[in-house]
Amino acid sequence: MILDNGRSSVLGTKMQDMLRCIRCGACMNHCPVYGAIGGHAYGWVYPGPIGAVLTPQLIGVEEAGNLPNASTFCGRCESVCPVRIPLPALMRHWREREFERHLTPRAVRHGLALWSYVARRPLLYRRLTALANRLLALFGRAEGRYRSLPLASGWTRFRDFPAPPPGGTFHAQWARRAGRPRR
Ligand code: SF4
Repeated sequence: MILDNGRSSVLGTKMQDMLRCIRCGACMNHCPVYGAIGGHAYGWVYPGPIGAVLTPQLIGVEEAGNLPNASTFCGRCESVCPVRIPLPALMRHWREREFERHLTPRAVRHGLALWSYVARRPLLYRRLTALANRLLALFGRAEGRYRSLPLASGWTRFRDFPAPPPGGTFHAQWARRAGRPRR
């Protein structure tokens, strides 16, 4: 009997590119999400971009569907991978499976719908992000306080969320730099 940890079943599927992985860790070390949240937050053996692709294959997208969503799709993982595994495309594959099976949690769906509403209204967006920036700065004064925020505990259990740097939101800083009045 050969114990292959399910690798044979991946052969010939859309995911077979990940069988080339040599576990060098380059994709993790260049991933901005991994750098910000650390390895333990992924909650399984393999963290980082390769973990976000491999874990749903091993334990099912029902269990690990949040991992391929923890990506900005900046593409650095693929560009540094020595064996050129198309990690963003494979993460997108899992996101599609999650969407097809209606596995996205209700809180995430409603949160994205709210964000989409606000993002299409620039003035409202700037006002709300400025308010959120001030509140997060207030919360960030004491270590570990972000954990008490709704939806935050899963990602902040292992590494505290940094407080926003002084200077306000990106929009506020950009307006100041361009000499435009703030709205
Ligand atoms: S960079 Fe490529 S080979 Fe290295 S661990 Fe990541 S996926 Fe595997």
